[in-house]
Amino acid sequence: MREKKRTILVVDDTETNIDILLNLLGDDYDVTVALSGENALEIADTESLDLILLDIMMPKMDGYEVCKILKANEKTKDIPVIFITAKTDEDSIERAYEVGGIDYVTKPFKPRELTARVKTQLNLKFLIEHLEFIASYDEMTGIYNRRKFFELAEKRFEFNADDLYVAMIDIDKFKLINDMYGHPTGDAVIRKVTQTISEHLESELIFGRLGGEEFAIVCNSQSLDEITKKLELIRVAVSSFELRSDNNESIKCTISAGYAKAKSETKNLDALLKEADVALYEAKGSGRNRVIFRS
Ligand code: GH3
Ligand code: MG
Ligand code: MG
Repeated sequence: MREKKRTILVVDDTETNIDILLNLLGDDYDVTVALSGENALEIADTESLDLILLDIMMPKMDGYEVCKILKANEKTKDIPVIFITAKTDEDSIERAYEVGGIDYVTKPFKPRELTARVKTQLNLKFLIEHLEFIASYDEMTGIYNRRKFFELAEKRFEFNADDLYVAMIDIDKFKLINDMYGHPTGDAVIRKVTQTISEHLESELIFGRLGGEEFAIVCNSQSLDEITKKLELIRVAVSSFELRSDNNESIKCTISAGYAKAKSETKNLDALLKEADVALYEAKGSGRNRVIFRS
């Protein structure tokens, strides 16, 4: 299967320059063009771009200004910008890097050098995206890892702690599953539990694996009843599924959950998680396979 072509935006107020770049890059990349800085910003804000080739001297808004605005916008700040310009003095080059450019090519450019530079920056961007992915997601389950969960949950707490809930979920007696069926089967159980929980969650919820067989959910809700019903539904769904061991034995498991709501005196996310953890501990202590709210 062929990979999807990477997208490049070419910005230049001179059409002949655009034509040259289109000829050079059009076969290998999905190239979009803009004849002004304003138009470039519009496109960058609406389309998904992998790289921008940016002219400096343009009427009204010059390339430096465009780059500054791109770098100040959360949506566009990570798109690499290569300046392509007739300006060759050192001040101009220095300025291009100061405003956030990643590379600088002077016109008239050498075609093969330009394509090599484009390729290098696209490879770097791909590598960064890949590293960000590995740093954010749990490899075994595909949901947020501990680090990313805390990053997003803390942001959510800062943004709106008023009706914020945290739930801690832990698989019951999981050590027994490992002991009886082996670690790989234990892994399969963790994946199945994750999938079952995910199926009950909307995308705006933050759901992560905190470690081992422990998960957490953070969400805003107007209704305690709604959260309670959802966790109860998840608990029942987990207790209902069945996996098969290598010897075709039936494997079932249950979860316990503790949850809490942020109050005006709740200082930070950690404090809220602690409340949920106390509730989880209570759920474990009172027989497991249950969901307990700590008010
Ligand atoms: P409780 O009901 O009190 O939670 O009991 P438990 O046995 O689930 O809890 P405990 O913390 O004693 O054991 C958790 C076990 O999970 C121990 C550890 O070896 C296992 N574990 C942690 N991470 C993984 C993993 O990624 N895969 C597998 N298969 N096991 C794991
Ligand atoms: Mg120009
Ligand atoms: Mg456990």
